Amino acid sequence: MAKATFPITDCHCDTILLLDRADYRFMRLNSTGHIDLPRLRAGGVTLQFFAICTALGKPGGYYLKQGLEYVNRYDYCLLENRDALAGIKTLADLADAEKEGKIACLLALEGAEPLEGSLELLDIFFRLGVRCLSPTWNNRNWFADGINEAAAGGGLTVMGRKAIQIMAEKGIILDLAHISPRGYFEALEIAPCPPLVSHTNARRLCDHPRNLTDEQIRALAEKGGAVGISFYPPFVSGQETARLDQLVDHFIHVAAVAGVEHVAIGSDFDGIQSTVDGINDASCYGILQEALAERGFNETELELVSGGNVKRLLRLNLPESDCGDA
Ligand SMILES: [Zn+2]
Repeated sequence: MAKATFPITDCHCDTILLLDRADYRFMRLNSTGHIDLPRLRAGGVTLQFFAICTALGKPGGYYLKQGLEYVNRYDYCLLENRDALAGIKTLADLADAEKEGKIACLLALEGAEPLEGSLELLDIFFRLGVRCLSPTWNNRNWFADGINEAAAGGGLTVMGRKAIQIMAEKGIILDLAHISPRGYFEALEIAPCPPLVSHTNARRLCDHPRNLTDEQIRALAEKGGAVGISFYPPFVSGQETARLDQLVDHFIHVAAVAGVEHVAIGSDFDGIQSTVDGINDASCYGILQEALAERGFNETELELVSGGNVKRLLRLNLPESDCGDA
């Protein structure tokens, strides 16, 4: 198996969903799922975002409860694997993880549902370690309309706008995956820091509502943001299967439209039922880098796409060091 030449940052996975399963242990190689410690190591991953997504639940306290349970499972996983993993809340934490050769882990909220419409809970989740937040999953919530509500034409709510300001003050990356097009452009207009779109692809190549138009990609680049290219076949090819060269097409297209400084990786591993041929799990990043190199990415570009661009975003978003949360 080809090992990744350049360290990998993956901006999105749903591995937290697996952490309480009886047939899964993060620290050993599993026959299910896409991510665990041996496979992150084999793939050369040095920074992994872990998302909490509760949006398929029901209102009435469920989202908060589920969100907190996921935080707890994530924390226990970090604890159990503390020789190999480091949860990062600040740039100093990231530097320490790199120095110690640990895999840096960043906690993300995919959809603001666990905040139950309370900006005070945003504060609490920040203290719990959340450093990346997408206002919505596919549905409408307190902050904005998700992509499934696009026909209604809704964008950010007043609370969603306030949340974006607070996130920038605290040091939480704004993630615009899943939001409605109107919410997307409104958020770009008011965002004080460069945002991320953690897992999405190019609409020009694959006409899926979750993918970004060239106009969206360009607007994000103007703001200094980055697009995490997803490995989900319906976003790559529009089919249940996709080839590696089709995935590489999305990297090339976004680089051509936005500049290579705005391209990243957002696998969506463990949130997807199928993967791109040859990229079966997190151990396969070396194969992806080889394919990108064959299609013309030079070493500098490979370093940026593999992780350098996301590190730049972290430097422009995350708190420097101790953020007073004890
Ligand atoms: Zn998602």
